[in-house]
Amino acid sequence: MSIDWHEIAQDIKRIHSGKEFVALHEPTFGKKELENVTECIKSGWVSSVGEFVEKFEKKLADYSGVKYAIAVVNGTAALHIALKVVGVQPNDEVFMPALTFIATANSVSYLQAIPHFVDVSDQTLGLDPVKLEEHIQKIGITKNGQLINRLTGRIIRAVVPMHTFGHSIDLDPLIELCERYNLVLVEDAAESLGSYYKGRPTGGFGRTAAISFNGNKIITTGGGGAILTNDANLANYAKHITTTAKVPHSWDYCHDEIGFNYRLPNINAALGCAQLEKIDEFIDSKRKLTYKYEQLFSNINGVSVFKEPPLSKSNYWLQTILIDEKKFNRDKILSTLNELGVMARPIWKPLHELKMYNACPKADLTVTEFLKLKIINLPSTPIIGEGKWE
Ligand SMILES: *Cc1c(COP(=O)(O)O)cnc(C)c1O
Repeated sequence: MSIDWHEIAQDIKRIHSGKEFVALHEPTFGKKELENVTECIKSGWVSSVGEFVEKFEKKLADYSGVKYAIAVVNGTAALHIALKVVGVQPNDEVFMPALTFIATANSVSYLQAIPHFVDVSDQTLGLDPVKLEEHIQKIGITKNGQLINRLTGRIIRAVVPMHTFGHSIDLDPLIELCERYNLVLVEDAAESLGSYYKGRPTGGFGRTAAISFNGNKIITTGGGGAILTNDANLANYAKHITTTAKVPHSWDYCHDEIGFNYRLPNINAALGCAQLEKIDEFIDSKRKLTYKYEQLFSNINGVSVFKEPPLSKSNYWLQTILIDEKKFNRDKILSTLNELGVMARPIWKPLHELKMYNACPKADLTVTEFLKLKIINLPSTPIIGEGKWE
């Protein structure tokens, strides 16, 4: 039986309230957002100081089950600082999945450190701790308690797992590896606010973690991000260097190192406070959306909807199908859907294929190479009843 992607496109539009154009992920705003932003403008405190920023940080920390959250201008900046405060140094290597958004590698490069790409699991779509261990045994030696890459002579300082599309990786074996090899765990939880691993929120497992509130993420502040940690010293240091490293003083300018102007403006945080109140409803709606896609593809051989791994409860940020690449041409499906107004996307090009990163150290990437041909993301905006937020 041949499958008609024109029909599928119509079905997808029907699922999304019959819209003529269905975006991959749109923000969902309402009255509360407008109220908060209006209040912020009226107060005059629109920039990097204000009540909403602190309120947002407090709510975020509570929601993520961590002690501290530091709000910054975007998720990439959050990752940059999350890596810096744990001590990633120039010329260090940092393990990360090859299948991730470019920001994971760029933030490592900002510190003059080097990404070291490892493979992902087809069960989680994220870093595979079993394959990482095999790789470490192949290329690693330990000297003075530090893991060294035998092939490059460089220290391997940290590992940055990423919870792809909201699905948590298998964290326990990775945590065990980090302890054994003295690697710092920094979570790229940009996509997984509201996701859980064994009942605990993602973003609370690493020494630090980064989340993103870009316009297409599960909640948005326009642009924004946050660093999460349970460590008071790291939290204070992160706050300090994201606010130009200014030493508190009632009128004088004294900065004690080269800092960053990364603080999230109050007006963005105003939006974030309203959004965070709705996140559980967004997630609920996304889980229902997954069920609808499952029904849509249930009779179609060679297409399966990716479901959360057994140990994870996912926020289902981006809906994902896996196609049988022997049966279907991925690019043809993408062209057809996009021509018909259904915004579908492939997964990122694996980072070791990009010219900036193709000389970086890497492990066997068989599963990455296999998955990149199979993954398609479908429109994922939560379907909230008309007028729900009015
Ligand atoms: C979105 C995202 C980021 C970066 O967030 P920005 O706010 O866009 O800078 C980092 N890592 C991953 C995996 C992301 O999806």
